[in-house]
Amino acid sequence: MTPAPVLDVRVVTKVYGMGETAVHALRGVSLRVDQGDYVAIMGASGSGKSTLMNILGCLDVPSTGNYLLDGTDVGSLDEGQQSILRNRKIGFIFQSFNLIPRMSALANVELPLAYGGVRGSTRRRRALAALDQVGLADRVDHEPNELSGGQQQRVAVARALVTAPALLLADEPTGNLDSKSTTDVLGVLDRLSLSGRTIALITHEDDVAAHAKRVIRLVDGQIIEDRRQAPVDGPPPRFAWTAEGTR
Ligand code: ADP
Ligand code: MG
Repeated sequence: MTPAPVLDVRVVTKVYGMGETAVHALRGVSLRVDQGDYVAIMGASGSGKSTLMNILGCLDVPSTGNYLLDGTDVGSLDEGQQSILRNRKIGFIFQSFNLIPRMSALANVELPLAYGGVRGSTRRRRALAALDQVGLADRVDHEPNELSGGQQQRVAVARALVTAPALLLADEPTGNLDSKSTTDVLGVLDRLSLSGRTIALITHEDDVAAHAKRVIRLVDGQIIEDRRQAPVDGPPPRFAWTAEGTR
């Protein structure tokens, strides 16, 4: 038996409001993403990217249709169960990093494990390993304001990774970064993809989407393009070993 896809979106619609003022934000979106794929979701402002992202992230449910995350039908769960599923299965990466100020990089990365009830020594070991994976082993005691934007986003990637989620979900992860930091963060995502992580990322930028194995384009709440750029089990197209963070 082939494994269930990590994401299985089945003819999903999302309608905000009712009657004449109703907004049809998603109009029958279907999408399957297998383990190890790296998908960029593109589209103009208002095309439904955030709505789709919220559904993929179990932050909202479809109006009609089904969404299965790692084989579980999210719509069948109550809100408490959805939040447990979200915490177990998804690592979020935001445009604005969302790190806790005046807490070390290590403490920030330990946080999701602390919420999950993982004990101190295990927590520390796993957080250090995640920071090592993003090339920040030498910055673990630094607080966010002592790190560059690119380094802060790499801490956020480590925090998303540390729970070993089924899916990394990134919303414009390089939107606040300069070009050097963008290259660093995309390099980290390339390596994570090569190691078999499943990644979905929203972006406006062709240069960012060029790193993904597959590009999906939304127009007016519908997928109008689903283009593969690299095989699911191969390296992402822009993959390159860089000196930084490859230990
Ligand atoms: P994008 O992220 O691609 O800019 P969104 O998913 O945010 O698109 O929005 C898709 C459509 O749904 C837009 O027309 C937007 O105005 C509308 N919309 C989004 N969220 C809401 C909401 N909470 N209530 C009403 N309309 C919404
Ligand atoms: Mg949006």
